[in-house]
Amino acid sequence: MELFELSLCELRDALREGSVSAEAAVSSCLERIAATEPSVKALLSRRDEAALEQARNLDKARPADFSAKPLWGVPVTVKDVLAWRALPTTAASRILEGFVPPYDAFVVQKLEEAGAVILGKNNMDEFAMGSTTEHSAYQATANPWDLSRVPGGSSGGSAASVAACQCCASLGSDTGGSIRQPASLCGCVGMKPTYGRVSRYGLLAYASSFDQVGPLTRTVDDAAAVLQVIAGYDRRDSTSSPEAVPDYSAAMRARSSLKGLSIGLPREFFQHDGLDEGVAAVCREAVERARDLGARIVDISLPHTEYAIASYYILAAAEASSNLARYDGVRYGHRTANPKNLEDMYVSSRTEGFGAEVQRRILLGSYVLSAGYYDAYYRKAAQVRRLIRQDYLDALSICDMLLAPVSPVPAWEAGSLGGDPLQMYFMDIFTLSLNLAGLPGLSLPAGLSGGLPVGVQLLGRAFDEGTLFLAGGLLTRALGTHGQRAPL
Ligand code: GLN
Repeated sequence: MELFELSLCELRDALREGSVSAEAAVSSCLERIAATEPSVKALLSRRDEAALEQARNLDKARPADFSAKPLWGVPVTVKDVLAWRALPTTAASRILEGFVPPYDAFVVQKLEEAGAVILGKNNMDEFAMGSTTEHSAYQATANPWDLSRVPGGSSGGSAASVAACQCCASLGSDTGGSIRQPASLCGCVGMKPTYGRVSRYGLLAYASSFDQVGPLTRTVDDAAAVLQVIAGYDRRDSTSSPEAVPDYSAAMRARSSLKGLSIGLPREFFQHDGLDEGVAAVCREAVERARDLGARIVDISLPHTEYAIASYYILAAAEASSNLARYDGVRYGHRTANPKNLEDMYVSSRTEGFGAEVQRRILLGSYVLSAGYYDAYYRKAAQVRRLIRQDYLDALSICDMLLAPVSPVPAWEAGSLGGDPLQMYFMDIFTLSLNLAGLPGLSLPAGLSGGLPVGVQLLGRAFDEGTLFLAGGLLTRALGTHGQRAPL
């Protein structure tokens, strides 16, 4: 077995024991990147030499005690929406081409403090708007399971990088499914934490009341190990929660079955017209394994599901139109050459800098916030959001977690949505509502359909990521998908 094939926890343990050096771990992943990157295109920027240098320095000063260095020597990548002084941060947009931030995101700082070696920045849909990673201004990422298919999005570069074993883990961001859906389409694990669990400091904002950073990995244990490092209070994010971070691996070790836990199946998801039969079959299999593990399965309802897409796309666009106003060509980022006057400088800089999908969202968001339409659209969508959250709270008062499909279909052919934005928005039906509710969700590989990976998600109570990790760890082992990687 090559080093790059090891899971994060396996590699971490070997590094601690000293049977593997940080330099060997990093160079194995760099070789894997060199071999796979020409076809997968998961990375927008790299720092191969600096990463090797960092690894050699780690080896020269091995700590005696690894408790403050839980990810010592572990190679990782991060989505290009996270600020980091070492490389440009572009959000895959022309408007930030070449922009090197003067500060580090909280989560990047945490990874580095923990001893992780960040190899590069992952491709994504521009400003995290999209579900295919085809909306990057720079390149489209391929799905490592079938290079003609999309990896999902918007954290498609992160998912493809992990599935192709370019790194042990990546950080993505999830506003309406962007960690869970690419994880599902690339056959890996993705955790979207409770809103407020992980600081958004240094995460380039898309829709601030939805955005959360979280890990993508090849095992549930690995996702728990990464969340352990990046979770916690940060005074620089006013929505960061002071809630203590539990020991997730202890929560996972606490039980060897799901006895005493109940899992709800949201009927609106399973009865949805668009749900592919192959995906439904994988979900049924996951439910049976959960039952074998001792879980009680209950039928539950999320009655406002049909309004999730409309509500999300109004609210997220509204927040985006406000957040993206800062890219005006004045302070940083792209500025048009030879503007005629001040207004032309703003308009041309933004027209040249933003791609079509981002412009569409800014227009939609400005429209729903405008004086004449605010009550009809923005306020109404905010009210519906509250009802959707209540649906989840009611369901989670009668069961411990929910199990649901992530994407209605497995990975589709690149270009096949034909540029129709509505068709792309409909693909988000099973992921958006969790972000409207602010709750945590774990996407885990559950099986294959037509040779392509299919994930299921476990949705939980606020700050109860530990229960999702526990159930997800047991389920992936029962399903035989623990540590699954793309056959690339
Ligand atoms: N696909 C959704 C969108 O385009 C979700 C994206 C995300 O979670 N960042 O908004």
